[in-house]
Amino acid sequence: MNIIIMGPPGAGKGTQADFIKAAFPIPHISTGDMFREAVANGTELGKEAKKYMDGGQLVPDEVTIGIVKERLAQPDCKEGFLLDGFPRTTVQAEALAQVLADMGRKVEAAINVAVPDEVLIERITGRVSCSNCKTVYHTKFKPPAQAGKCDKCGGELVQRSDDTGETVRKRLVVYAAQTKPLLEYYEKQGVLHDINGNRDTREVFADIKRLLENL
Ligand code: ADP
Ligand code: ADP
Ligand code: ZN
Repeated sequence: MNIIIMGPPGAGKGTQADFIKAAFPIPHISTGDMFREAVANGTELGKEAKKYMDGGQLVPDEVTIGIVKERLAQPDCKEGFLLDGFPRTTVQAEALAQVLADMGRKVEAAINVAVPDEVLIERITGRVSCSNCKTVYHTKFKPPAQAGKCDKCGGELVQRSDDTGETVRKRLVVYAAQTKPLLEYYEKQGVLHDINGNRDTREVFADIKRLLENL
């Protein structure tokens, strides 16, 4: 099962990916999570990525493609994968197609989680996550039982530095310019599936589950 989950920032890709990986035994590969981990660990990759992330810009293709190639070569990706937040440019999509073709594989489904812009902004600016276990919450739509504390581990809930102010708008502009054209790329290949993401998370997942079961 070689699957991509796409959609603008805040659409609910990470949230749906958590449901998907609980129902289907495939690794969840989020380039955003990989970059944030590298930033937290202060690695060279993290230092490089941070320059772009803070401004709401994309990390350069060669860097991003490099880490995804390495990750897809790991043994746990043999039976499939769920890519979240990659590809985000045509160059990345073509690189992915090439890597998969070399393994005799291809993208089987590109799930596009569609949500209107005004809802995206509300979702992004209310997003908080556990500084310890990384579980994602929303101050209004998915509040923790006790304000500021993780339900699972009691860790402190923090906001991502790129989830505030101008950076949010910038990311939406970058999405429209660089990533949205990819929808057509996957549509032409006959693997694009549009899902209405502007509903309760469980309703959204019910549609995704049905589609994956029928692949
Ligand atoms: P993405 O990975 O696409 O950026 P997330 O999964 O992190 O998006 O979701 C963004 C924010 O919106 C999070 O705070 C999450 O809890 C919340 N969220 C996700 N899906 C929904 C939904 N269907 N309805 C309301 N809030 C949602
Ligand atoms: P969201 O789903 O809210 O947009 P992500 O966690 O997917 O956020 O990405 C956060 C940031 O990490 C992006 O704004 C970008 O700087 C960087 N990033 C993540 N994935 C990619 C990618 N495929 N190509 C380039 N940059 C990326
Ligand atoms: Zn936690």
